[in-house]
Amino acid sequence: MHISSFNPPRRILMGPGPSDISPQVLNALSRPTVGHLDPLFINMMDEVKYLLKYAFQTENEMTLAISAPGSAGMEACFVNLVEPGDKVVICINGVFGHRMQENVERCGGEAVLVEGEWGRAVNPDQLEQTLKENTDAKIVAFVHAETSTGALSDAQTLCAIAKQYDCLTLVDAVTSLGGVELRVDDWQIDAIYSGSQKCLSCVPGLSPVSFSSAAVEKIKMRKTNVQSWFLDQSLVMDYWAGEGKRSYHHTAPVNALYGLHESLVMLYQEGLENSWKRHQQLHQVLADGLTELGIEFIVPENERLPQLNAVYIPEGIEDAKVRSKLLNEFNLEIGAGLGNFAGKAWRIGLMGYAARKENISLCLSALKEVMGQ
Ligand SMILES: *Cc1c(COP(=O)(O)O)cnc(C)c1O
Repeated sequence: MHISSFNPPRRILMGPGPSDISPQVLNALSRPTVGHLDPLFINMMDEVKYLLKYAFQTENEMTLAISAPGSAGMEACFVNLVEPGDKVVICINGVFGHRMQENVERCGGEAVLVEGEWGRAVNPDQLEQTLKENTDAKIVAFVHAETSTGALSDAQTLCAIAKQYDCLTLVDAVTSLGGVELRVDDWQIDAIYSGSQKCLSCVPGLSPVSFSSAAVEKIKMRKTNVQSWFLDQSLVMDYWAGEGKRSYHHTAPVNALYGLHESLVMLYQEGLENSWKRHQQLHQVLADGLTELGIEFIVPENERLPQLNAVYIPEGIEDAKVRSKLLNEFNLEIGAGLGNFAGKAWRIGLMGYAARKENISLCLSALKEVMGQ
C-alpha cells in the first residue's frame, strides 16, 4: 500500500463545529515546539489564562484550558462538583443535556430532569417549579447554546433562579463562548466549560473551563476523591497556577495552545462585544437569504442562536444528496440533524472565522443551485 502525506482540500466549515480556522491560527500551530515547562511557554499559558478570563468575562482564578475536547470540559465540571448522592437538576432541551444526565449518574449523583421541548429555550418557570419540589438540590446544570437544536437559553435568568435555591450553577458554553453574550461573573455561573473549535475557531481538542470560588470551595470540601485522576482539578490547579508553582501534571498540547492563544488574541483585538454583534448581524443576513429560498427555521426568532442556524429540510429535498453535493462541488460543509432532528434538519453554522459575508453568499447560492437540481 502506498501512503503519502495527507493533504486535505480547503473546505469551508459551516456546520456545528469544527468551524473554519483562520490562516493566522493555522500559522501559529506550525511554530517551533518548545518544552511545556519552558519559561517562555509558561508565560504564554499565563496569557491564555488572561485572555480566557476576558472571553468568559470572569475574574475566576481557576480559568484554564483542559487538554481535551469540550466533552472533557463537561466531564471535568461534573466529576469535580458532583459527589455521590448529590442531587443535580438538569435542564434538557436537546442532545447535550442528555449527556449531562449521563455524567451526573456516572458520578453517583441523582439527576432530576427538567425536560423541555426540542428547538426551544429552557423554560425558567419549569426550572423554578422543579427546584421548589427539590429543595435539597445542590447544582443546576443547563446548556446555554444547544447546538443540536439551535436554541439559546436565558442563562442569566436560569442562574438567578438557581441561586434563590442555593444551588451551584454549571453551564455548557461550548457553542456560546465568543458568539453570543456571556458573562460568567455577572450571571453567577459557578462552573462553565467550552470548546476551542466552535466560535473561537481554533483546532478541536481543547476545552476552556472556569470555576468560581464557591465551586473551588465545594471541590476542596469533597469527602471522596474525584474518580478521574486526569480531570481532578485540584491536581491540575498546580500546573496552571501562578509563577513558581508549575509542577508537572501532563504534557500540555503545546502547539494546539499556540493556536488557542492566537484565536483568543484575535477575539481580544476584535473586541468581545463586536464579535457578538458580528455573529448577530451575519445571522440576520443568512436568515433573510434562507427565508427567500423558502427554508424555515426550527427555533422561534427570539430564542435563536445566531451562530447555529437549525432549519427544516424543505419538502422533497434529499438530505444526504444535498449535503454531499455541497461538500464535493462547493467544498462547503453544513451539518446534518442530530437526535430527534436527524434527517429532518440542517444545521448551518456561522461560528467565529466562518461568520463572514462571503461564506453566506456562497452558502446561499450553492444551496439554491443544489436544491434546484
Ligand atoms: C460540540 C459540543 C460539545 C462537545 O464538544 P466536543 O469538543 O465535541 O467534545 C458539548 N456541548 C455542546 C453544546 C456542543 O456544541
